[in-house]
Amino acid sequence: MEKIGVVGLGIMGAGIVEVFAKSGYSVVGVAESDAAVSLGQSNLAKSLSRAVSRGKLTDEESSGITSLVTWGTDFSLMSDCDLVVEAAPEIMSLKAKIFSELDSCVKSSAILATNTSSLSVTSIAEVTSRRSHVIGLHFFNPAPVQKFVEVISTEFSDSDVVKKVVDLARGLGKEPAQIADQPGFIVNKLLLRYLNHAVRLIDDGISTRDIIDSAMREIAHFPMGPLELLDLIGLDTSVEVLNTIYDDTGIDTDGPASGLTARVNIGELGRKSGEGFYTYAQPHEPATSQDDEGKQRVYVELINAYLASACEMRDSGYATEHDINQGMKLGCGLPEGPFETIARVGSDQLPLN
Ligand code: NAD
Repeated sequence: MEKIGVVGLGIMGAGIVEVFAKSGYSVVGVAESDAAVSLGQSNLAKSLSRAVSRGKLTDEESSGITSLVTWGTDFSLMSDCDLVVEAAPEIMSLKAKIFSELDSCVKSSAILATNTSSLSVTSIAEVTSRRSHVIGLHFFNPAPVQKFVEVISTEFSDSDVVKKVVDLARGLGKEPAQIADQPGFIVNKLLLRYLNHAVRLIDDGISTRDIIDSAMREIAHFPMGPLELLDLIGLDTSVEVLNTIYDDTGIDTDGPASGLTARVNIGELGRKSGEGFYTYAQPHEPATSQDDEGKQRVYVELINAYLASACEMRDSGYATEHDINQGMKLGCGLPEGPFETIARVGSDQLPLN
């Protein structure tokens, strides 16, 4: 593969452009308007200048990366691409429209990939005339930093196409896990269930924001508390992903907690709207709590459910222990994978109490 197209140049698309250009590919970045293209260009420029100021890239390397990228609003710019990665908003009708358009204007041998977090890759493939060449290629945020990627195949996928994309991801310095098309894939399914559970503890009056966030930072050593993390991901996005998981599993606790939907209904979407579980008008310190007993209770409740969910995923045959561990470490930045936690505490000690 030589030439890569990227559709959608927001947080993820601009990062994906950077990942490919850094590995020496020619990249075409396409968005729906000149303003959206400019935003993508400035996202890339900011990220490269941060890397230069931290001594991770030289000025020459940064200019070399920039010179590999061309930009525009016309899908025909991608007609000779070997792979196109779509990173448009998480809306099925929009992705369907984009894939149908890509199918008609990108050469027939090209692979079309979606960066969707939770939508059905199978349904996206079905709108094209090249279902065997449509795949999920799910990067994590920020794409240039997070090492894990999920390569999602469908019942239609050509095994050579899957292999090519897995090899390509390795060549980009990523660690790919090859999995089937299921809502939430590995990482989002485990992560969003855990985050949703944390909100339910507040909804049910069992705990508070500060106790929960400090419990998971201080006792589990997670880099962020679950409520801080929900604000970062976006409460609207989290609700969308949970709805998709719930539609698949039908398990009541997979449905978005009322503390999430209520906030989304009044426009409190987390950091991006300035208000969520926290308020972002002023910089704030992470929450802390001195309630050691309360923190221990929350930790035990959340970690037991998270580990049980990881075991259920492994036992269903959907993903291996290795891929689940790597996903939670390299995709979410957790200090250890769930099966490493189980090995450390001893499986005979579970559930913790
Ligand atoms: P975003 O809203 O930041 O960016 C979306 C981009 O798509 C914008 O540049 C927008 O201008 C562009 N766009 C909108 N309509 C378009 C069209 N018709 N044609 C071309 N471009 C169009 O979204 P994001 O957070 O970058 O997410 C993009 C995708 O990546 C989603 O599917 C999301 O679920 C997935 N994802 C997001 C994250 C994350 O943490 N944000 C992580 C992994 C995967």
